[in-house]
Amino acid sequence: MAMQDFAYVIVGGGLAGSSAIEGIREIDKSGTILLISDEKHLPYHRPPLTKKLWLGKKKVEDIFFKDQKFYDDNGATLMLATRVAAIDAASKTLSDETGRTFRFGKLLLATGGRPRRLTIPGGDLPGVCYYRYLDDYLATKAQAGEGKSAVVIGGGFIGSEIAAALNVNHVAVSMIFPAATLCNHVFPADLGAAIHERYRQHGVNMLPGDRAMAISRTGKGWLTRTQNGREVESDMVIVGVGIEPSMGLAKSAGVHTGSGIVVNAYLQSSHPDIFAAGDNAFFPYQALGMSMRVEHWDNALSQGKKAGRNMAGAREPFMYMPYFYSDLFEFGYEAVGDVDSRLETFADWEKENDTGVVYYLRNGVVRGAMMCNVWKKLDTAREMIRKAHRVAARELAGAIR
Ligand SMILES: Cc1cc2nc3c(=O)[nH]c(=O)nc-3n(C[C@H](O)[C@H](O)[C@H](O)COP(=O)(O)OP(=O)(O)OC[C@H]3O[C@@H](n4cnc5c(N)ncnc54)[C@H](O)[C@@H]3O)c2cc1C
Repeated sequence: MAMQDFAYVIVGGGLAGSSAIEGIREIDKSGTILLISDEKHLPYHRPPLTKKLWLGKKKVEDIFFKDQKFYDDNGATLMLATRVAAIDAASKTLSDETGRTFRFGKLLLATGGRPRRLTIPGGDLPGVCYYRYLDDYLATKAQAGEGKSAVVIGGGFIGSEIAAALNVNHVAVSMIFPAATLCNHVFPADLGAAIHERYRQHGVNMLPGDRAMAISRTGKGWLTRTQNGREVESDMVIVGVGIEPSMGLAKSAGVHTGSGIVVNAYLQSSHPDIFAAGDNAFFPYQALGMSMRVEHWDNALSQGKKAGRNMAGAREPFMYMPYFYSDLFEFGYEAVGDVDSRLETFADWEKENDTGVVYYLRNGVVRGAMMCNVWKKLDTAREMIRKAHRVAARELAGAIR
């Protein structure tokens, strides 16, 4: 079969990959585009998989990034359920698992991340759900309901959100996680303790300071054994213990990788025709003056689009400060910048551990802000972080309301 040639090839049909099409078309109206994704679905938004789909606020058909017509209208060829196996940077070609090869002018690696696996006995059993994909939602939803039970392993974003979603859907949930409180990488200790208490009040069986050590099947269900000697039976086991950025293809292409695919301000890798964006990209975060990877929705959308524009020749640095959000029962927030709980934090509450703003500071400079049940203040927070003025933490009282 003759090798097919495309001006732009995008590997990965997540949000970064699909928004790159918009970016390319803003600059280049006609260059050929191929998007290859190993998922069988059209690109979709992941946040509803742990939120609105469970609350009846969205249906599966509402979560797609765009419909098929968008891809047709933009002249983008979609190749779904297709896994790219290797890249040859010298000849600017890539091949899929069946041996088909494609030549690219510019390539975007929007391969995102894959769920980190548990390396414990039973961690690889079929049916243990490493929650990330639409298929995981569909499988979990089919099993969920009154009288069912779930063990959720992991107390970060995914674990906390899916536990709340299942609890609202009348599933008896036990959460096992090593920290003392939920989302401890982000929440200061007091807020973490308050959220933890919220979960307990909703009836979630909280097992902090513990780890799953073995998972086994028991007839139709599961038995999870923990380090502290607990044995928890359940109908489902759901794991959310973080992701590993997908860098295998980048490595096969010989581009620089570290804790992500290393890109410059233009989202260009060490090979000038290969770009990366989204969960897998280790990029210079201009406003914070450091390089990092960001595993959030708004980052994937904005970086994907910018990478698309730059692949088409715009050559614009990525300056945007992405935000992220989460909903844990009645507690919702939006956050921007560096919200690492190891920084100095100052919480300015209107209602303690419920409504207010948490500031994250380093050497007296605001690096990040989390607006808890406070909305539409992201730009104010962005400006504060960009200005990087020195402040005494208490002077921040009332700064964002
Ligand atoms: C359940 C869930 C809830 C979330 N909620 C929030 C939230 O509330 N707020 C927030 O800010 N963020 C949230 N996130 C994070 C956010 O969704 C991600 O940051 C974003 O989806 C990353 O997009 P991406 O395109 O970079 O990567 P991905 O979404 O990982 O997409 C990469 C795609 O590439 C495919 N791929 C990988 N390798 C290959 C290959 N070799 N060949 C072909 N295809 C390949 C993958 O299968 C995948 O389809 C959530 C994530 C999950 C999983």
